[in-house]
Amino acid sequence: MNLEDDKKFLWHPLTQHQLHPEHLLIKKAKGVMLYDEYDNEYIDGIASWYTCMYGHCNPEITSKVAEQMTELDHVVFTGFTHQPAINLARELLKILPENQDKLFFSDNGSTSIDIAIKMALQYHHNKGVKKQKIIALDDGFHGDTFGAMSVSDLSIYNGPFSDYFLEVIRIPAPNKENVKQSIAIIRELAKKNDIAAFVYEPIVQGAAAMKMHEPKALNELLEVAKGENIITIADEVMTGFGKTGKNFASEFMSCLPDIICLSKSLTGGIGPMAITSCNQMIYEAFLSSKMEQGFFHGHTYSANPTSCSAALASLELLKSSEIQNNIKNIEASHRRFNEKIKDHPKVKNTRQQGVIFALDFNVNVDRYGDLRYRLYDFYMAQGVYLRPLGNTVYILAPFVISQTELQRIYDAIQNSFEII
Ligand SMILES: *Cc1c(COP(=O)(O)O)cnc(C)c1O
Repeated sequence: MNLEDDKKFLWHPLTQHQLHPEHLLIKKAKGVMLYDEYDNEYIDGIASWYTCMYGHCNPEITSKVAEQMTELDHVVFTGFTHQPAINLARELLKILPENQDKLFFSDNGSTSIDIAIKMALQYHHNKGVKKQKIIALDDGFHGDTFGAMSVSDLSIYNGPFSDYFLEVIRIPAPNKENVKQSIAIIRELAKKNDIAAFVYEPIVQGAAAMKMHEPKALNELLEVAKGENIITIADEVMTGFGKTGKNFASEFMSCLPDIICLSKSLTGGIGPMAITSCNQMIYEAFLSSKMEQGFFHGHTYSANPTSCSAALASLELLKSSEIQNNIKNIEASHRRFNEKIKDHPKVKNTRQQGVIFALDFNVNVDRYGDLRYRLYDFYMAQGVYLRPLGNTVYILAPFVISQTELQRIYDAIQNSFEII
């Protein structure tokens, strides 16, 4: 039996196998639906961790990938270049915030962050200054490789590694009450001239259960950081590509980041790929007659042509009027749903940004406490895949979801009020 072999051979991510040995076998995915081995269907209410935003196995993407696969599968990206990467770069830079100039490829969100941090550290190093500390936000999440883990605050399970982290100074997610104090902290630290970078998830902190903060306050922090020659790094791995209502969350601020990290829905879920983009100022700090001032970071699968073609097809979809209209419709539906439930006694708080909707239940529980498992099972039994965290449940469904399918998610959430 397949599942016996799963237990025998596989080690799943983020899993305590002694407590949670069972995994559901998903056989097929199409549009917004996941199908298990018994043909039960589940609406993918989180677009498989915000990747498959244009629907699973979208033929507009798969056809381009199929074509690319027979032409050029992979080639070394050092010394060689290829059309899929060039096309993707040209098209992506058209919609990225206007100060972005260069793209650097890697494989996943975590590596895009490690690359951003290394770019920032070496930027200062190449200018002959040693800056070692990094500012990051409370409750931030940036991934599971060492650099990314260091700047993540949601590291309850990262204890075994914490002695080996980079030095990070934390400030709260910005709002009008705390921004003055955070500015004072940054200014004070900057006097010692050893702050290399400020890493943040703009506006929405995904893994912190879709916590949201104020663009205006964040903008103030960014301006201060820039003024102090601190490299600003926007982690848009989750927020990128339309989910916040704009193509990139950084567009909500007038002060633009030096570096932007992208992954998750970059390829529409077809293949792993990440991009760290930067402005000319960063890039030029690596130009030199000395080899060692170059950026000696590289992954074997950098700019994989098939992934590039998936990303290019995804970008075309994002720009289409169909997807742009869907985004507006989903935003409006979420607002209507919010009106209906926000005053319910079981609801403590709701929040929305673009197509992201989150609801906190009126109970105190741990992030991975018993409630999330009860809710998870409850939603699955109703044919809806959601991943509650602590007392929060959120929706981030593919852009192609229909009103009827959205309503099924809302109904499942409303029905779950009974088990709180
Ligand atoms: C998921 C995520 C990451 C890590 O990406 P991986 O591809 O899982 O390594 C980093 N930052 C944010 C904001 C994320 O949501």
